[in-house]
This record gives sequence, structure tokens and C-alpha cells, in this order.
Amino acid sequence: MAGQHARHEPHTIHAGGEWRAAVSGATREILDPADARPFAVVAEGDEKDTDLAVAAARQAFDSGQGPWPLTPVAERAALLRRVADLLVRDREELGLLESRDAGKTVEEGRVDIDCVADAFRYFADLVAGESPGRVVDAGSTDIHSVVVHEPLGVCALITPWNYPLLQASWKIAPALAAGNTFVVKPSEITPMTTIALIELLAEAGLPDGVANIVTGPGHTVGARLAEHPDVDLVSFTGGLVSGTKVAQAAAVSVKKVALELGGKNPNVVFADACATPEGFDTAVDQALNAAFIHSGQVCSAGGRLIVEESVRDRFVDELARRATKIRLGRGTEDGVECGPLVSEQQRAKVESYVASALEEGAVLRSGGRRPEPAPERPESGWFYEPTVLDRCHREMRVVREEVFGPVLTVETFRTEAEAIALANDTEYGLAGAVWTTDAGRARRVAGRLRHGTVWINDFHPYLPQAEWGGFGKSGVGRELGPAGLAEYRESKHVYQNLAPKPVRWFAG
Ligand code: NAD
Repeated sequence: MAGQHARHEPHTIHAGGEWRAAVSGATREILDPADARPFAVVAEGDEKDTDLAVAAARQAFDSGQGPWPLTPVAERAALLRRVADLLVRDREELGLLESRDAGKTVEEGRVDIDCVADAFRYFADLVAGESPGRVVDAGSTDIHSVVVHEPLGVCALITPWNYPLLQASWKIAPALAAGNTFVVKPSEITPMTTIALIELLAEAGLPDGVANIVTGPGHTVGARLAEHPDVDLVSFTGGLVSGTKVAQAAAVSVKKVALELGGKNPNVVFADACATPEGFDTAVDQALNAAFIHSGQVCSAGGRLIVEESVRDRFVDELARRATKIRLGRGTEDGVECGPLVSEQQRAKVESYVASALEEGAVLRSGGRRPEPAPERPESGWFYEPTVLDRCHREMRVVREEVFGPVLTVETFRTEAEAIALANDTEYGLAGAVWTTDAGRARRVAGRLRHGTVWINDFHPYLPQAEWGGFGKSGVGRELGPAGLAEYRESKHVYQNLAPKPVRWFAG
């Protein structure tokens, strides 16, 4: 980064303003998914490191010098804006780091950093522009009653590997804007940009102890954060299995829980959307983007294409033709459109889903294998070809479960009611899209979809000012938007009697 490095490998645990190695001395190599070679070494923290970081965050919340919760809102907002400026300054380096960490293309990495800066600016503007409380009509001029919002306390922020810094920013920016202190635990396989952000927060002037990070695994660091009695909120983004464990652990100390979990996101295409050559091209292009951007490792990936039967063959032919042309390779290479999967384990999981789909009768139209090695695509990298599986149905495992890889399944419908039923036939409910030129149908279908985000004639965009989150098993709570700030607050009702007198309930 352009700022001063206050740390050096493997001092990647930050607690109370100091960079440290793990108490145990353990380390972990961070691997580049494009060639499986290590490019960094970080501290492998555990419960002891977690306790130290939580203690630092607790101290900074309760009694730190010039405690962050009591810092005027305008100063907190100004700090968040400085962070956004530093992110813009370091955009190239951070974009590259995100690419190496998560395997995405450098251009995707740069876009991620822009979005991270936007999140900081959005929450700065939101808190700076709001009223400090709401006066309530108590029904008497002798009573003054006001509801104010206050910071929650110490927040534990647990994040996944697919959008490492973006997902962290959706938690860190509102947590700080609301006046909390935090301990963040990035995914153990992609911690590098979150470590860099903690450095930028210090450079922007955040007091010691407000922002803390513990690098390490979920079953030690993450689990300890979720159960820790001194943590007031745990905000988790990740898979359903780990999210369920986090909710169970958090229940013991009755802490507030926010969960952003997986999705099985339908992309519903009506024939009318394909009636013109331009419409057809747009719907196919966006279906490709929905399913294969970042090799499908996107919580809102449109991996489930639900297309009107009359246009299926034409649509799938074109989709498969274009999927085979996607240029796979190391994210830093010019001309590469898609990087590898994040880990060997993730690729093995994708391969097992494709194998089970073929056993259950799906028809392979593209991909379904590892690509031939090439100069931009070392054999040791975890690449997998964009895969289109036709003739799928709702009972297949690949249709019901989140694959989290470059796999698109195709189902068909004949009526609007059938399309809606298929799109809602999932235990998840994160996002979905409908493609049609019929405005009435677009609104009807959007109104019936049980998903937290619904796109009409688009796929994937989000806005920092609009809530993001899921119905069903896609999670609890919302990120972004005003609700994404409210997650990090307590409401307090202050009732003041301006003319106190005895109530005489008790005779004596
Ligand atoms: P994961 O659940 O394996 O890990 C997520 C984080 O939780 C990591 O930091 C991990 O170390 C930690 N963790 C694991 N077990 C834990 C435990 N028992 N207690 C506490 N923490 C634990 O998920 P992943 O593989 O890193 O990410 C992919 C998943 O994230 C997908 O399911 C994807 O849909 C989801 N995701 C959701 C959103 C959203 O906005 N809803 C965004 C991005 C990713």
C-alpha cells in the first residue's frame, strides 16, 4: 500500500492497535488459486488470539481514550470518507491483491474496491444526514419522550472468501458509522485485503482498539467469536452449515445475530424477452453473466435458468456456444475473462455436483471438465470450464443445492404460474430475476418471487442504499440501506417526566 506498513509477515493479528503473530506461533500459507503456490504467510490465530482481540475491542468500546461510541457523528462520518479516499488511492494494489487472493480477474478486483469505497461513503452520508432520535407523542405536555439509537457494543464480523473485502466492508462501514468497535475474522484462505483495510483504518485515524482482526479458521476463531460473552453482535456471511452453527453458538449468550447465507437463484426468461434479435442477445448475454461471473462463486449467482419451453432450444444452443468461448486463466493475464475456483476443495465439490447431475439424467451442453492447461492457465491452478446442464428438473441435487461454481442448470416452464412455482421452489431466497417485455407480467412475477432481491430485465446489480439479504434459509437481517445500519444499533426510549408527582398505587 502507499501508506506505511506497520506490520510484517506473519504479524497479521491486530488487537488494541498492535500487529502480532499468533500466540501459538502457528502460521498459514495463502495460496494463489491460479497456480496453487503460496504468495503470503499469515498468523493462524485461535481462541487465545480471539480473546485478546475481543478484550481490546471491549476496552475501546467501554473506556477507550476518547471512546469511539461517544465520538461525534460528524467526526465518524469524516473518518469513513477518509477511508474511502485511501481505498481509491490504493485501488490498483488492492484490486491486484483481491485477484491473487480470490482468483478473480484484476478488473473484477478493481470493481470490488470501488464498491468497497462506495459502501464507506454511503454509510458516512447516511449517519451524517440523519436526525439523532425520534420524538414520540406521549399524550401529555408533561412528558417528553424520545427514541434514540445507540451503538451496540463489540461486533464480531465473520466473512467469506468470494468477495473478501466487499463483504467485510458491508459490515465494517456500518459498524463504525454506528459507533461500535469490532473484531473481524476474514476467511482463512483470503485474508489479505481485509488485513490491508485494517491498516488503512489506522492511517485514517481510527483510535487503537476500535478495529481488530484475527486471521485463522472458522472452527476456532469464528466459533469463539460467536460464543464469546463479551461480544454483543455476530454478523456472519458464509454458507448455511457454518451459519447455523454460528446462530446456535450465539444463542447461548443471547447476542444479536445477522446472517447472510447462500442462495439458489432463479433466472426466469419468458419467450417474449427473446422475440427480437436484440432482446435475445441481451437475455442470453445476461444469463451467461448471471451464472459465470467470478466462476459462479457468487451468492446471488443465477445458476438456475428457468426458460419458457418454446425458446429453450434456441436459448440453450446460444448459451452453450458462448460459454465454451469464455477465456479462462490467471486473473492478472490480459484478455482473461474468468479466473479459477478458489481452492482444490471447491473444485472437487463442483465436480461432484456435475457428476451427480449427469447420473440423474442432465444433458451436458458445455464444460463439465477441467480445461486443457495453457500458458495463462497452469495445470496446478484450480480451473473448471463453464458448464451448461440442460434437461434438469427440480428433484436433482444440482438444482436444489448451492453449487457455488460455474454450473448453469436449465429447466423449462409453459405458464406464468409454473415459472413462479419453480422459481420459489427452493429453501433459499436470496435473489432472482425475470425477463419479459410485458410490464404487467414483470410486476406480477416480481411481486410473487420469495427472494430478497428481484431484478426485472437485469441480473446482479445492487445499490448500497438498497437493502441486501435473503428470505428463508438465505439469512436473517439485512445489509446495506438503512436496515444495514440499524443492525448495528440498539434503540433506547428516554421518557422524561417534566412534572413528577406520587402515583399513590400503594396506600401506605
Ligand atoms: P463458509 O461458511 O465456509 O465460511 C464463511 C466464514 O465463516 C469463514 O470466515 C469461515 O472461516 C467461517 N466459519 C466456518 N465455520 C465456522 C464456525 N463454525 N463458526 C464461525 N465461523 C465459521 O463460507 P465460504 O465457503 O467462505 O463462502 C461461501 C458461502 O458464502 C456461500 O454459501 C455463499 O452463498 C455465501 N455468501 C453469501 C453472501 C450473501 O450476501 N448472502 C455473500 C457472499 C457469500
